[in-house]
Amino acid sequence: MNNQNCIFCKIIKGEIPSYKVYEDDIVFAFLDINPINPGHTLVIPKEHFENTLDTPDEILKHITVVIKKITPAIIKAVGSDACNININNGKVAGQVVFHAHWHIKPRFENDGYKLWSGKEYQKGKAEEIIKKIKI
Ligand code: 5GP
Ligand code: ZN
Repeated sequence: MNNQNCIFCKIIKGEIPSYKVYEDDIVFAFLDINPINPGHTLVIPKEHFENTLDTPDEILKHITVVIKKITPAIIKAVGSDACNININNGKVAGQVVFHAHWHIKPRFENDGYKLWSGKEYQKGKAEEIIKKIKI
């Protein structure tokens, strides 16, 4: 099912042009319009789901395999040998487009892209969290 107001659903349907990297029955991959580096690619399910956690397991599995297949070709094409593959789930985490998507970001030495810096746990906090995680 597609969402009429969703920009990525419009890209899948060809209503908004994009540079297609890969396509099959389940997945569409295309260049990000504002890349952190050349080759920055978005991988999306053709069916509309708001984020990763809403996406059915079978589709998630397929997307993982597709990412493994296309990433080496993408980073090689731009002369990179490293990448970040990431998902922003939810507004606070930086998700702007609410159609599930995976970022493949080719990386270069000194490209200026900053990763997060970690914080130490306060005493007892990790134990407290572990007790609260109910899977
Ligand atoms: P998010 O922040 O939601 O994880 O990432 C959304 C990404 O979609 C951004 O990196 C943004 O540049 C990209 N994007 C937004 N609109 C378009 C568009 O119309 N075309 C393409 N190719 N990328 C888009
Ligand atoms: Zn959509």
